[in-house]
Amino acid sequence: MTGGLSEGLKPPRDDIRGGASMSCKHVEHELDAYLDLELDAAASKAVRDHLGECAACRRQAAEREALGRLVRAAPHYQVPARLREKVLALVKRSGSVSAV
Ligand SMILES: [Zn+2]
Repeated sequence: MTGGLSEGLKPPRDDIRGGASMSCKHVEHELDAYLDLELDAAASKAVRDHLGECAACRRQAAEREALGRLVRAAPHYQVPARLREKVLALVKRSGSVSAV
């Protein structure tokens, strides 16, 4: 017998805690989970803090949130590229993130 070691199950993230500020790359990585409220309090706060001081990531978040809302509103509906661009344009035009 060789034991039952499986390499398939790794923890989703190991050491994001403890860092004062996240990197943009990291925030981008966590953004979907953040918007879906899947992060725990600490991780969620870290993302929020970063969004508070990073306009680029804030825009990313706004774009994804807008898209996410569309997708959620029509779960069986593939968002066409044209509509996607329209949404992104809207988000860009509005400039700042407004939490609705
Ligand atoms: Zn950033």
